Amino acid sequence: MLSPSLEDYLEEIYRFSLNHNVVRVSDIATCLDVTMPSVNNAIRKLSSENYLIYKKYKELVLTEKGRRLGKFLVERNRILQNFLRVIDSKCDIKAEVEAMEHYLSLPTIRAIENLLDFIEDNKECHEKFIRHCRYREKKGLGLVDGYQE
Ligand code: MN
Repeated sequence: MLSPSLEDYLEEIYRFSLNHNVVRVSDIATCLDVTMPSVNNAIRKLSSENYLIYKKYKELVLTEKGRRLGKFLVERNRILQNFLRVIDSKCDIKAEVEAMEHYLSLPTIRAIENLLDFIEDNKECHEKFIRHCRYREKKGLGLVDGYQE
């Protein structure tokens, strides 16, 4: 298993490679808003574990193993973003998924996928659910924020 940080690097490299012929270290530094030394560090680890090849002119090429995991990471991120939208969370969706994606097990993510698929096939259930959310909101029901005075 890769660390959350390395997963994010590989995810971004794969995502970038879908729309660009060439992926450079500088592209990833820009996408993730991190310094070149931190990207280089991550690249070294990912290449030592055979997820990518670091070619001359700072070009990054994913191996079969890297593409496979990259695809998984990008899809996992998309599933969790959809999940937060479907449950109508008022959170910052991108930021929340960024954190939670690394800590959920595969069975849980597959269970969430099943739920999303079910909702897709049963739109009326989702409408009913959203109405229920609005009702609870109006009644002021739900977890009381223990951090607030
Ligand atoms: Mn993340």
